Amino acid sequence: MNIITHALIGWTIAQRLSPSKRDIALITASSILPDVDGIGIVADFWQSGGSETIWFTTFHHYLGHNIFFGVALAIVAFFWGQHKFTTALAALGVFHLHLVCDFIGSRGPEGELWAIHYLYPLLPHWELSWAGQWEINAWPNLVLTILTLFFTFKQARDQGFSPLWYLSTRADAAFVATLRTRFPLPTTS
Ligand SMILES: [Zn+2]
Repeated sequence: MNIITHALIGWTIAQRLSPSKRDIALITASSILPDVDGIGIVADFWQSGGSETIWFTTFHHYLGHNIFFGVALAIVAFFWGQHKFTTALAALGVFHLHLVCDFIGSRGPEGELWAIHYLYPLLPHWELSWAGQWEINAWPNLVLTILTLFFTFKQARDQGFSPLWYLSTRADAAFVATLRTRFPLPTTS
């Protein structure tokens, strides 16, 4: 799936697991970071203008999509998190959810299957793939993105902060205020 969907999934789950903004950032990052192994696309554009994807295809779904990377994310989350065990377990959980999402919905535009090399680099040729994998821009991915976007907006209104908070608390406050004006919080009687 695309990185925006992974980010929204991680954020939506993290909001429910911890009240700590730092923990939420760590859990969300664990949902996104497996895709840093796709950074080779930048080198491909640099070298060939994007006509070849040698770096991308060599490393994407390898370096960041294996259990060892997931454990590394969990260790970082444990040391940096405020609620250490919850954050580490959640990081490992959303990392695996990322793999599941890629496993079911990351088929390439040419119809090629994306396999997960879960035990890379220990067993580099052992891979997990599913013949029913749908394309990365297929409708289930779109529905999931819209749903998680809806939950992200709802949580921003309900909790009083959004991902913008990490960039600018003022912009975040303005965003939440706008949301609450258009969609007022339910009144408790
Ligand atoms: Zn991925």
